[in-house]
Amino acid sequence: MVQQMIPPGSVLGILGGGQLGRMTALAAANLGYRTHIFAPEKDSPASDVAWRFTCADYNDQPALEAFAANVDSITVEFENVPEAALTLLAELKPARPNARALATAQDRLVEKKYLESVGFKAAPFQAVDGPEDILKALDVFGSPIILKTRRFGYDGKGQVKITSSSDVKAAWAELGQSPSIAEGFVNFTREISVISARDVMGKIKSYPAVENRHENHILRQTIAPAAELGKLAEEAEYLASQAIEGLDMIGLLAIEMFVTEDHQLIVNEMAPRPHNSGHWTMDFAATCQFEQLVRCAMGLPLGSTQILRPAEMTNILGDEVTEWPKLLADPNVHLHLYGKTEARTGRKMGHWNKAQ
Ligand code: AMP
Repeated sequence: MVQQMIPPGSVLGILGGGQLGRMTALAAANLGYRTHIFAPEKDSPASDVAWRFTCADYNDQPALEAFAANVDSITVEFENVPEAALTLLAELKPARPNARALATAQDRLVEKKYLESVGFKAAPFQAVDGPEDILKALDVFGSPIILKTRRFGYDGKGQVKITSSSDVKAAWAELGQSPSIAEGFVNFTREISVISARDVMGKIKSYPAVENRHENHILRQTIAPAAELGKLAEEAEYLASQAIEGLDMIGLLAIEMFVTEDHQLIVNEMAPRPHNSGHWTMDFAATCQFEQLVRCAMGLPLGSTQILRPAEMTNILGDEVTEWPKLLADPNVHLHLYGKTEARTGRKMGHWNKAQ
C-alpha cells in the first residue's frame, strides 16, 4: 500500500473550537497546512488562530456539507460531536478518527465494555436505568460506588459518590435520572494515562505513561514520565495500542487508568483526541501530540514519541491566569495561554511546562 499523503497547503477541518483545536491548528500551521474550524460557539480559542471558521450546530447538515467541501481531511478536538455528524462527513472526506471511535468514547457503558474486550481490567460496573439498579450495585460491589452518567460527563461533572442506600434517591435525581453506570470504587494510589497514535498505514506509537494529579476532579498537574511504574508502563502502553488498533482509528487515543495499591492497572476512560495529559509533549517530546494528530489526519508518517527530558505540566485554572507575568518571567517556564477572555472558576485558561 502506498501512503496517501495530503500535502502542505491543504486544509485540515477540525470539529470543535476549544483549546485542543487551537493547539492542533497551530501545529498544522507549523507543517504548512491551513485549518477550518467547525464549532457552535461564536467565540472560540481555535477559531482565533484558524484560516476559516464555520459557526454552526453539529446537526446542521448543509453547514456540514459545505465544511466538507472546503477541507481535505477532518479531525475532532471534542469527543461529544454527534456520531451522525462524523458519519456524514466521513462519506465526503477522510474522517480521522472514525465515527466508531467517537461513539465508543461517548457512552461510558460501551466504552468500558470495549476497553475490557481489548484486555484492560476495569472496576466492576453495571448499567443503571433506575434507583433499583443502584441499590443492586451497592449490594454487589459494596460501598462506596460511583454513579456516572453514560453521556456528557467531564472533569467530574455528571458523577456522584454513593455510600449508603439512603443516598440513592438523591443521587439519581442529581444526575437528572439519566441512563448511567454504577462503578465499584477503586482504591488507587495514582492516576496515569497513555496517549497512542496510529497513522494511515496502521503504524502505532505511544508516548510514555504519565502521572496525573487532580484537584476537585480537574487535572492540575502531569508528571512525565510517571515514576517507578516498572512493568506497568509497558502493560499500559501495550493495552493502549490494542485499544487504538481495535477501533481501526487513525489519530490519537488517550487512555486514563488507575494504579492500585497492589500494583494493578484499572482502566477508567478514553478519549479519541489530543488530551490534557499530553500537553507536556509541546516542549519536551520529539513530536508534540498536536503535530502527531495533524500527521495522522493528513496521512503523514508518525513522528517520534520519545521524551526529550523529564517534565511537568501545570494547568492554569480560572483567575490564576492573572499570574501570567510571573510565569513569563521564569526562564524555565514554557507558557501556553488559550486566549479565553472569561476566567470562570476552574476553567482551563492555559498551562505551563517545565523540566523536572
Ligand atoms: P472521570 O470523569 O471518570 O474521569 O472521573 C473523574 C475522577 O473521579 C477520576 O480522575 C478519579 O479521580 C475519580 N474516579 C472516577 N471513577 C472512580 C472510581 N471507580 N473509583 C475511584 N475514583 C474514581
